[in-house]
Amino acid sequence: MAGKYQYHKHEDLSKRLICPRCAEFLTYADIEIFPACPYCDCRLERNPELEDFILQPLVERWANQYAPVTGRSRGRGRDSI
Ligand SMILES: [Zn+2]
Repeated sequence: MAGKYQYHKHEDLSKRLICPRCAEFLTYADIEIFPACPYCDCRLERNPELEDFILQPLVERWANQYAPVTGRSRGRGRDSI
């Protein structure tokens, strides 16, 4: 099986998650605090795939700023978006 979630590729943001229930396009910002669809309240299962989606813009940003950084965000140390 492929991933649990489907994505939509958007011009400005790299990816959007398609809500499995209402098919709205969700950005990482919609679900980074609370993993639920803001349109239909569908709870999204927090799995590694979803984590990757949420972290992707941050990871890309870090990659641009501080070349080879591996590892994920630890704790709450996050700068403003
Ligand atoms: Zn939804």
